[in-house]
Amino acid sequence: MSRIFRYAPSPTGRIHLGQVKAALIPYILAKKFNGKFILRIEDTDQKRNKADSVAMLLEDLQWLGITYDLGPENPTEKNEYFQSQRLSIYEKYINQLLAEDKAYPAYETPEERKEQIKQQRSKGQPAVYLGHHANLTEEERKKFAAQGRKPVIRLRVPKNQIITFKDEVFGEISVNTNQIGDIVIQKSDGTPMYNFAVVIDDHEMRVTDVVRGFGHLSNTSKQVLIYNIFNWQVPRFAHFSDIQNENQPGKLSKRYGAKSIAQFRAEGYLPEAIINYVVYISCSFHFKDKHEEIMDMDQIIEAIDYQNILKTNAKFNSSKLDWFNGQHVRRLSNQDYIKRTIYWLENHAPQLHEYYQDFDSSLPSKFLTDRSLLQEGLMLVKERITKLSDIFSYLGFLFNDTDFNQVDITPTGHTREEFEIAREKLYNVIQSLQHPWTHREWESKIREAADSIGWRHADLFMALRLMIVGSRYSPPLFESMVMLGIDRCLKRINRN
Ligand code: GLU
Repeated sequence: MSRIFRYAPSPTGRIHLGQVKAALIPYILAKKFNGKFILRIEDTDQKRNKADSVAMLLEDLQWLGITYDLGPENPTEKNEYFQSQRLSIYEKYINQLLAEDKAYPAYETPEERKEQIKQQRSKGQPAVYLGHHANLTEEERKKFAAQGRKPVIRLRVPKNQIITFKDEVFGEISVNTNQIGDIVIQKSDGTPMYNFAVVIDDHEMRVTDVVRGFGHLSNTSKQVLIYNIFNWQVPRFAHFSDIQNENQPGKLSKRYGAKSIAQFRAEGYLPEAIINYVVYISCSFHFKDKHEEIMDMDQIIEAIDYQNILKTNAKFNSSKLDWFNGQHVRRLSNQDYIKRTIYWLENHAPQLHEYYQDFDSSLPSKFLTDRSLLQEGLMLVKERITKLSDIFSYLGFLFNDTDFNQVDITPTGHTREEFEIAREKLYNVIQSLQHPWTHREWESKIREAADSIGWRHADLFMALRLMIVGSRYSPPLFESMVMLGIDRCLKRINRN
């Protein structure tokens, strides 16, 4: 029988790296064990579910290459992999438990329950339900109902029993049922509680491996209890650590500005780099050298097992992610690199303005106007960029005529007057070069020019760079000038 893994998100908007981890770890384990992977949308909490969250989630998973064997067919037509479509199933099991007296209605109002908790806390007791309505007579129930009270359904939890389960990452965990108490399994509005629905679904979907974030470790004993009450086989459990924020305490969350996958995509990160990075911070593999840290999906699947999953929280490190991304860019074949950059320019780069208001939205289409120039430029920076959007600063000079007047000449270490003299000199030197100019000829002529006007060579190269590229950073200057062509170079040098 094949093993079944699942990712069971409650969609609330654009996903971040923490949620990628939650999808990725069970996904790779499913592949590892030749199992199946289910995507189940936990959308019973209607308040939290934004209408287009599911669409965004599916889009992000698809972009990352995290595919599922069973799950939503599309974001709008809800099928049985949406909890909201499964309410009658939960209802059936609730009724079964009620009929067997393994659960009971409790009629306290939220205010009354709050008061009970307050009392317990003031006595230093845990806020477990003490079973006030556990043994109401039929008449008492009717009386409460007649008052218009809507009951919650509570599970009749055996007292003083030890619930034990083995977590594949955190080891054996035991909890006394007295610390759990008679938990609510159905809210007063008729919707199931998470701990109940998740057990019903995992059981009905024949899930063998429940792999999810650390936050759910404390729910697991309650879930094991429910499996036991139904006399169902308990799945294998594994919980993995959280990803902490880079610059502040706490785990990555949208509230604290965790960057969304959509933003990473717009900025030109590669999905394989994001996956590699998340696995790198989530698992411990024994690498002999740094080179082996770069893994593709097949290598990850080969390497992963439950023993490799880290217990300790990793801190997000944007420079490390950038490093991974740069490495993955360099690993692409040239053809793939160009094809994917063009696809990104057409489809994802235009979204950059949603994240950076000063992003010049005309850039992606400008870059696409001359494909062969773009291709030449891309090859020149393949070894330098960390993410695709770096091409805007590296190669902008090819598609935007730089404004000489705005160039800050400070890095040349000369006055404006001296710069003007150098400009004139450079214009004449470049104009006198024979077609096709060679790198050696070009370089020696510029060195001679520097000597003749008493400039340091490096300063004159910088002056030329500023005029040609409009910035002190650029791909190699000679190659940049060859790409621009002599006429455009002369025009830039001779501006105003
Ligand atoms: N829906 C839960 C969440 O988004 C996950 C449930 C689970 O994996 O058991 O946190």
